[in-house]
Amino acid sequence: MPSVFVQGRPVDSYPRLAPEARRGQVRRITEVGEEVLHKPCRDVTEFGPDLAALIDDMFLTMYTADGAGLAANQVGVDLRLFVYDCPDDEGVRHVGHIVNPVLEPLDAADRRLLDEGEGCLSVPGATMDVPRPDRAVVRGYDRHGEPLVIEGTGYFARCLAHETDHVDGQVYLDRLSGRERKDALRQMADRREAVFARRAANIAALSG
Ligand SMILES: [Zn+2]
Repeated sequence: MPSVFVQGRPVDSYPRLAPEARRGQVRRITEVGEEVLHKPCRDVTEFGPDLAALIDDMFLTMYTADGAGLAANQVGVDLRLFVYDCPDDEGVRHVGHIVNPVLEPLDAADRRLLDEGEGCLSVPGATMDVPRPDRAVVRGYDRHGEPLVIEGTGYFARCLAHETDHVDGQVYLDRLSGRERKDALRQMADRREAVFARRAANIAALSG
């Protein structure tokens, strides 16, 4: 079993950081409460250099925040796309981007819910258990406009569902009870500054 999949395809070897990150610039990560995170994003219609540059920036920004996935509205751009660099529960690493992603509905008989820990770069410092299916299939396009299907299981399925929620204008807090949501926001209030300090240190290290 290959240990790295890039754009859904197995590769023999891959650098620690996706090559996109070298070309990118760090952008500010939006936080829960900012409007761009709470409304559906627009479809991408232009597959050109601006889109490629946005993907580069998103990869670098995700790495500086120790993230496993990042949607465009998390850097303030209301377009439907996300990037990811995420392990599954078998230790396989999945790296890539997907444009105009749509989560395929799964048969009820086919899906099993896992109630496991989840965090979000836009809710810095909080982790909550969120029920998600153990498998996800996302259909969309790559940066050149070629059709793409990405499948994931375990933690990577959680990532695919979480990021597709983002482009639909949902954050994971929207899937929690009022009490749990309060708990998450309290965790964020307590830990936000520490998370920001760590991100600043990562940015310094990556640009050093
Ligand atoms: Zn998120």
